[in-house]
Amino acid sequence: MNILIKNGTVINADGRCIADVVVKDGVITEVCQGARQGDGSSVLFQRENKTDEPSPCLEFDEVVDASGLLVLPGSIDVHTHFELSFGDTSPTGDGFSSADDFFTGTRAAACGGVTTIMDFVTPEKNENLVEALEKRKSVADAKTCIDYGLHMGISELNDRVLEEMADVKAAGVSSFKVFMTYAFKLTDDEFKRTLTRVKEIDALVMVHAEDHEALEANRAEFIATGKTDAWHHYLSRPEEVEAKAVKKAIKLAKETGGTLYIVHLACAEGLEAVIEAQQEGYPIYAETCPQYLNFTCDVYKRPDGRNFICSPPMKGKESQYALWASVCQGARQGDGSSGFFSRWSKPDEPSPCLAPDNAPTFGINTLATDHCPFQTYEKDRGKDDFTKTPNGVMGVENLYPYMLSQANKGILSFERVVELCTANPAKIFGIAEKKGEIAPGKDADIVLYDPTKEFTISQKNMHSTIDYTIWEGTKLKGYPVRTYSRGNLIYKNGEFLGESGWGRFIYD
Ligand SMILES: [Zn+2]
Repeated sequence: MNILIKNGTVINADGRCIADVVVKDGVITEVCQGARQGDGSSVLFQRENKTDEPSPCLEFDEVVDASGLLVLPGSIDVHTHFELSFGDTSPTGDGFSSADDFFTGTRAAACGGVTTIMDFVTPEKNENLVEALEKRKSVADAKTCIDYGLHMGISELNDRVLEEMADVKAAGVSSFKVFMTYAFKLTDDEFKRTLTRVKEIDALVMVHAEDHEALEANRAEFIATGKTDAWHHYLSRPEEVEAKAVKKAIKLAKETGGTLYIVHLACAEGLEAVIEAQQEGYPIYAETCPQYLNFTCDVYKRPDGRNFICSPPMKGKESQYALWASVCQGARQGDGSSGFFSRWSKPDEPSPCLAPDNAPTFGINTLATDHCPFQTYEKDRGKDDFTKTPNGVMGVENLYPYMLSQANKGILSFERVVELCTANPAKIFGIAEKKGEIAPGKDADIVLYDPTKEFTISQKNMHSTIDYTIWEGTKLKGYPVRTYSRGNLIYKNGEFLGESGWGRFIYD
């Protein structure tokens, strides 16, 4: 299967050009800038031919005229929760299952320009980690429509687990997820030992950072005094609760030298701590999610506030601005002068781009979604009590279009969106050889984006199974019109064209 995508504007993290992209058997073989003559049909084919004889043109099964469109690497969402069950999920039980399985979740992803997702393995107590990995893979293999990876959850720590982490690494997975809160949290000492272990085996730890004691104390107080509306979900885990845990995680990472990846960072103070550690040279990465960029904690005052309940919760405006400032340009202050937060003290004024080229980027490294939606009736269980509402919101179909729309409106560059949504995730999670760029030798995971298309997000035009969306009514400028997964057209103009089971495990 040979495809020619011609005349599009190819955008990678490091720049853009008008070029033709040649795809052969699922792999990008050429990105030909300036090899086009007139209709773009002849010069590049000759390069394919190694003989001296003039040859007929390479036959294309499909020629796509991408004039006026952007040609982007597909997004890599490294944080999804498909088919996540906890508690008793029988009709009378009080447990929950996240709304999307690996099929509907990756279908939604594909329609939002995502070509790789990374989800989680949650081993049972005493379960062998590699066996748990294989089990989760077999579930995903049968259903995913795009390529996928998995992170290994660590919810108990002992010599066996530490030993098996090396086996997990040998099986291709080098990211381990720990929690600082919830029943399955690790103690500080266990967290530290995990960091030490990843240093030994050359892996990384992902952490959910919220201070358990502080938020539990808040919750107990609110429950005791009947303060159980959605607003108190936010008040139980406000900025300082997250910042305290982020700082502790960074401290432990510094002590051990282990590589740390902070998931869903949502507060300014935590971000400042991350930037400081990065500037000191520590291998510390931070991810944020679109819900923290587009919403503030004010959503919890709405009548449907419970539908926005996720942890960490959306924060106040100061944090929102800080995240945006970092997402837009990084805190690239080579000269160490003016703090970038000060530029956002007047939020209505656009922040000028002060970043010199080639300066290291500090701050937010990746964007991912933490996609973990629950149906309205499940969210409603917490109508009068936020502690009964399952945590999680949707976003896998929204992140890339939302960020690209922001770029299209001039808030940040398309290159930066590509860097945050695909190039950096590919590098951090070890798949940059195949993913994250439009370049020869890479998988043909390609999104064609129409910057002129107007789109309004609604539950009705989404491809998840979820019966509502926090993004309802959000207007976007520009939208993906095609998604290719390894050269296979899986989404076109609002329609899903993929198939379950197409996706491959990225570490095989
Ligand atoms: Zn998560």
